[in-house]
Amino acid sequence: MTVQHSPASVPAPSTPGARRALPLVRRTLCAASLALLLAAGPAAAVAGGVEWPAAKNTAAQVEKAGLTMLDTEQLAMHIHTTLEVFADGEQVTVPADIGIDRSGPTPRYSPLHTHDETGTIHVESAEWRDFTLGQLLTEWGTPREDTRFGAPLAWVDGRLWAGDADDIVFRDGETITLRYTSR
Ligand SMILES: [Zn+2]
Repeated sequence: MTVQHSPASVPAPSTPGARRALPLVRRTLCAASLALLLAAGPAAAVAGGVEWPAAKNTAAQVEKAGLTMLDTEQLAMHIHTTLEVFADGEQVTVPADIGIDRSGPTPRYSPLHTHDETGTIHVESAEWRDFTLGQLLTEWGTPREDTRFGAPLAWVDGRLWAGDADDIVFRDGETITLRYTSR
């Protein structure tokens, strides 16, 4: 098996201008979150706070990811990768039913989906090909839509991924860790 991971490196620091602006942004965000908490009432004050449910419009999200929904799970290619997600250090639940459309009489499946909240990503395809983390995140939807966070840093089996996390290809038995940080 070829190792495709790039050498570990930390992304270049932001420009001095961006760094000066950061404290102001942080304060503004804190005020905004507080206002949100007050408006939403006590229920919003649950530990961690970041919840990214599976997309409601699964079929559209799967199409956006460039994949095709299937009437049955295809098992010519069947691998599992574990995905762990953290937002500001707090673990975020990877929801069940990413890539599974239950709006019709019978469920329809993307070749890339989750069955439960364990973080196990199932790749079940009629043919062997590459499936990427970017496709899964597009299907999931909510992490990308949450403007509080920038692009995540990623690790594959504990090694820092140097490129765009979207480009990570799912490999059987590997663990992908994503860490999002507030803007
Ligand atoms: Zn499976």
